[in-house]
Amino acid sequence: MEKEFVKSITAMDKDFAQWYTDVVTKADLVDYSSVRGSMIIRPYGYALWEHIRDALDGMIKETGHENVYMPLFIPESLLEKEKDHIAGFAPEVAWVTHGGSEELAERLCVRPTSEVLFCEHYKNIIHSYRDLPKLYNQWANVVRWEKTTRPFLRTLEFLWQEGHTAHETDEDAHEETKRMLDVYATLLEDYLAVPVVKGQKTEKEKFAGAKFTYTVESLMHDGKALQAGTSHHLGDGFAKAFGINYLDREGKLQHVHQTSWGMTTRVIGALIMVHGDDRGLVIPPKVAPTQVMIVPIAQHKEGVLDFAYGLKERLSGAFRTGIDASDKNPGWKFNEYEMKGVPVRLEAGPRDIEKNQVVLVRRDTGEKLIVAIDEVEAKLGALLDEIQQNLFSRAKELLEKKTSVAENMEQFKERLETNPGMIKAMWCGKRECEDKIKEETGATSRCIPFEQEKISDTCVCCGGEAESMVVWAKAY
Ligand SMILES: [Zn+2]
Repeated sequence: MEKEFVKSITAMDKDFAQWYTDVVTKADLVDYSSVRGSMIIRPYGYALWEHIRDALDGMIKETGHENVYMPLFIPESLLEKEKDHIAGFAPEVAWVTHGGSEELAERLCVRPTSEVLFCEHYKNIIHSYRDLPKLYNQWANVVRWEKTTRPFLRTLEFLWQEGHTAHETDEDAHEETKRMLDVYATLLEDYLAVPVVKGQKTEKEKFAGAKFTYTVESLMHDGKALQAGTSHHLGDGFAKAFGINYLDREGKLQHVHQTSWGMTTRVIGALIMVHGDDRGLVIPPKVAPTQVMIVPIAQHKEGVLDFAYGLKERLSGAFRTGIDASDKNPGWKFNEYEMKGVPVRLEAGPRDIEKNQVVLVRRDTGEKLIVAIDEVEAKLGALLDEIQQNLFSRAKELLEKKTSVAENMEQFKERLETNPGMIKAMWCGKRECEDKIKEETGATSRCIPFEQEKISDTCVCCGGEAESMVVWAKAY
């Protein structure tokens, strides 16, 4: 029974893409819908998103932001106001042309992001320095008409939050850009146990219309990178295009300085591909919909179910506790909750009851612990912390193991081939070299890390004078 069940997920090393597809569907995270590239997020997947969202929402509010809601539609004329912005998004915009049977006088775009809506609103509500800063965030869905799609990683419609802020000075906006990148790094590292590299995007990779873009980059099990969150300093470009002005402290008319920052359901893809294994999902305790799953053993025997339900009631105050008292056999249940990545399984049968103990089984290591019934809460609390820590350490080790250094293109290609992952290499700052590296290796510049190292004096591609160290990788 057990073997049969495990066989139904493709082994990671055999076909990583198929493994991913198997996990997202068999762990009941998503189902496919009749619209190409759109996913149905099922209750278990949505509960996972809710825990991630709640953690992030808490941090967004703690840093002084307020949640708002903007409309789904953007008139074409509004979208076109900032030229770089529309140029960047035009290829993937979905348009509404009819209302019922009537053709609209002006097409409406389904928001791919909401900068222009916030700008239009800010123009109306910001007049004086006293109105600043404006620190708004919205939780919403957006649509981008992607050609190739995969659940969570790239879908036509996805859920996210987008922060949009307006400030008096360029420095204030810069501080905000850094602050929110740090919030993303905290969410990823402390909650999702996904280590990140923080840095700045190159001109080529920055957000359309931004002055610059900061990013947190993570690395998946197969050696591909995933951009997990971005924070943009928009400068005053949007403010000029939209006429968002305020009277400063000296009574002079000024443009505001803006930021925007976003994190999406994509991070669920990162969580899956960083922690998952051949038995399925592995979810870090802090965001796990169920932290401990109780599986009664020989539940038909007298007293077992009462004992198990008593435990559930007792533990539910402190932990997200589930119980499976269905008539499926324990072997099936073990596999099911391993597949779903539940951090700890708690087994309790007649012999355990007799001995006043329960068995705890870790999802991350498979280790079994026998725990006295009086100590369950304390042991479980410590164990969940330990699992959270262990997942982060393991992922950090993987990131380090899969990060190489290259001084020239031969080394670059050889390392990408033998140890797929991130390559640290020097760059002259020229677009031609960035394009050439992508063309020859398939790797893109992920970021210019804030923590710089000097690998060599010269650009890995052209041999010219190096400007900075860049992290390169093939990416999702
Ligand atoms: Zn170069």
